[in-house]
Amino acid sequence: MLKTDTLIIGGGLAGLAAAKGLEGRRDYLLAEKEIRPGGLAATLKKGGYHFDYSGHLLHLRWPETTRLILGALGSNCRRIKRDARIYAHDSWTPFPFQANLSGMPDGVKAECVSGFLKAYNAGLGRPAPDGVEAFAPWCRRVFGAGISRHFMLPYNAKLWQHPLSRLTTEWCAPFVPVPRPEEVVEGAYGRPNSGMGYNTVFHYPKRGGIGALSNALAAGSRGLRLGLEVTSVDLKKRIAEVRHFGPVHFRRLVNTSPLDEFAAMCADAPAAVRRAAARLRHNTVYVLNLGVKGAVPPLHWGYFPGSGFPFYRAGIATNFSPELAPRGRASFYIEIATPGRALDLASAEEACIRGLEACGLIKSPAQVEEAMWLKIPCAYVIYDADRAAALPEIFGWLKERRVQSIGRYGSWKYSFMEESVREGLEAAARLRSGW
Ligand SMILES: Cc1cc2nc3c(=O)[nH]c(=O)nc-3n(C[C@H](O)[C@H](O)[C@H](O)COP(=O)(O)OP(=O)(O)OC[C@H]3O[C@@H](n4cnc5c(N)ncnc54)[C@H](O)[C@@H]3O)c2cc1C
Repeated sequence: MLKTDTLIIGGGLAGLAAAKGLEGRRDYLLAEKEIRPGGLAATLKKGGYHFDYSGHLLHLRWPETTRLILGALGSNCRRIKRDARIYAHDSWTPFPFQANLSGMPDGVKAECVSGFLKAYNAGLGRPAPDGVEAFAPWCRRVFGAGISRHFMLPYNAKLWQHPLSRLTTEWCAPFVPVPRPEEVVEGAYGRPNSGMGYNTVFHYPKRGGIGALSNALAAGSRGLRLGLEVTSVDLKKRIAEVRHFGPVHFRRLVNTSPLDEFAAMCADAPAAVRRAAARLRHNTVYVLNLGVKGAVPPLHWGYFPGSGFPFYRAGIATNFSPELAPRGRASFYIEIATPGRALDLASAEEACIRGLEACGLIKSPAQVEEAMWLKIPCAYVIYDADRAAALPEIFGWLKERRVQSIGRYGSWKYSFMEESVREGLEAAARLRSGW
């Protein structure tokens, strides 16, 4: 039987960063079931185009992870100022909607501004202190009726695919900026608020898509083995079964695979943990990548709250990296969420292309020369009362069994790439100090 000090399940950014932190200091096996590293931070090639699993832009906040990520990319990196917009009522307005209503028709603008001020003056215009409020009432309380009706509720219903009266708000703080009254008024009738939100500036590789980052991190990993799927784990015996490979004995374990699947594969998980894991929910995102001939508008991505568009977001990747497409071409990523049911790809593709034409992102469907669908089965984890009750049960048991479950899906949260990298480095630091 193969023996290793540390088994890491999953070679996405969290697993790759954990491996980086152990390299040369502890023996480890990083088992990745796919035949390429990077998880969601991967890039696929088709017909001269490079396509990501939708836009994967680097938002860097912390010194250690920034050093690691920028160091891995070296000169293959660009710093870019965000140009994101919302398309609603047949018009474009800058992101975030709640602070930039200038592009909306007069009636919508007035309804949104007066609704916001009314909510604010009611003394309720502050975010919930404990984060357990449901999303729909939170929106009405914080943004007022107009902003909720014209953007927050329809957009988030499309994205989450879960009743907004049951979705809770713990995820909102970094992702949903709450403007001050003067910013709402200024954004509607004066200058746009361009510096708002967590992603006003981002980094992205010059060449090779976001997969260039994963490949750079993977290149230094001596313990990475591709095509190895862990199918079951006995945390008491410290043995994992690996498909087409056999048992692996480990002393320590870092999991980055989705928490619900991981709990289900733990042979010694008690019934309460299995029941808790079965209560975790997520949506599924289908990404349509398109290669397009001819000129396209300069924006990076747009949000689409309207029911006339099947997608909630569409971006133009070549506007942050022209090298992703052949010369004179552009590439789009278009995201459609479902609660998990399969999508009819042929009709969805037609509707997406019609949608791009309707909002002016392309002039004609004849511009489309390449298409590639990518499916993200577990894309956004659902924040609700079930999640809040399940996580302490599962993590309590994993702690007893001395397992670290990290990354966006291992820790079952809405987070971004830098956070996965940070959690990988932190997990490795704990292992190095004898955890
Ligand atoms: C639609 C969408 C858009 C996003 N856009 C951005 C963005 O713009 N910026 C940003 O910073 N973040 C973005 N993210 C988030 C980002 O993708 C994640 O935070 C990050 O890539 C997660 O890395 P991870 O290693 O935690 O998980 P993953 O990337 O999911 O890696 C887990 C790995 O485990 C492997 N695995 C699973 N089960 C097993 C098993 N049993 N055995 C072996 N291997 C296994 C998987 O194949 C995978 O490679 C986006 C996410 C989505 C869904």
